Amino acid sequence: MNRIPIEDEIVALRRDLHRHPELSGQETRTAGIVAAELERLGLKVIRAPERGNSLLGVLDTGRPGRTLALRADMDALPLQENACNLKGLKAFVSEIDGAAHMCGHDFHTAGMLAAARRLSAMKERLRGQLIFCFESGEEMGLGDDARALLAELKPVDAVFGVHVQAAFPCGTVAVIDGSCTTGCETFAVKVRGKSAHGATPHLGLDPINCAAQILCGANAIVSRRVNAREAAVLTVCNFHGGSTWNRIPDECRMEGSLRFFSEQVGRDLHALLEQTAAGIAMADGCTAEVHWRNWCPPSVNDAALAALARAAAEKTGAEAIAGEPWMASETFARYREICPEVLAFVGCANPDKGCGAPQHSDRFDADEDCLPVSAALTAQFAQDFLGGQKGAAMPRPEICFAQ
Ligand SMILES: [Zn+2]
Repeated sequence: MNRIPIEDEIVALRRDLHRHPELSGQETRTAGIVAAELERLGLKVIRAPERGNSLLGVLDTGRPGRTLALRADMDALPLQENACNLKGLKAFVSEIDGAAHMCGHDFHTAGMLAAARRLSAMKERLRGQLIFCFESGEEMGLGDDARALLAELKPVDAVFGVHVQAAFPCGTVAVIDGSCTTGCETFAVKVRGKSAHGATPHLGLDPINCAAQILCGANAIVSRRVNAREAAVLTVCNFHGGSTWNRIPDECRMEGSLRFFSEQVGRDLHALLEQTAAGIAMADGCTAEVHWRNWCPPSVNDAALAALARAAAEKTGAEAIAGEPWMASETFARYREICPEVLAFVGCANPDKGCGAPQHSDRFDADEDCLPVSAALTAQFAQDFLGGQKGAAMPRPEICFAQ
């Protein structure tokens, strides 16, 4: 692929964000940096601090045309970053204990600011409006304040986003047709029985044994009750009951999540888990309550926008690959309630540099060379979507962020 130079200060900014990660809903420093940069570029900044740290930057060309939202997320994960990647020591790591950019949102924020610079510089050659949308709290599913701010600016014709991808090589871009991230819903199952001495279980109702059967029943739902052509996951990730070795407790709990690419499959999984838990609990003389939260739909790429994004990737010199949908979930999906959307995956793996550990693991390390790929793709897509000024020649595809 073509090398795409990028301003040194954007690279420095990405490193600064990486060293100073902020957890979901706490991105005050990051949001301040973003707002200052957008204001420096002459964009109108829209914030609602009482609702969170999300902010928008509006680039209005003053000429009629379409409106495109460009979305980046800003938050880090509650993880301790490992000083090593897959090969050796990382060049630098988070300086904040218990917080780290292990999903690459530092790249998204910096890459979007780089695109904002580029597009601001060519404002006179564009028409319509660009809304740079910086989202708080994505990892915790809190990002509704960004979407709400954007929804108030209707009409928006489309929303574009980038997510770096450790599964794909640096220099590649994958834009999937249709569902590209899973929908998600998290659950907690609380099983109530009756305490008894471990030597006399017949005098109680054992919630641990009941919960264990519910766990096995739940694990059979995807393989026995969901069409094998559908991709779906039900995973229990914690299981707690009792506190000693000789006393059956009153209660046992477990938590987990559902993942699905079809909202109907998600609704089916939801109903089947409730049915399984209630039925098994009844058979054991216990009760089971299922509590739900964090429903997030799948991200579904609009076919026309996906084609435009693939064409934009090729213009920037990136290698377009087929890729595959991501089993992770993304609040980007919720923007689909406002307008059609497209989320592009930008590869960030490079075995030579030890980059390739999966996102959300402590050894995750993205090849920094994916930053200009992401920025160029964003700027090119925006140019192509908005088109040139009426009566003027369409802007030449810009692949170079060099000064
Ligand atoms: Zn992410």
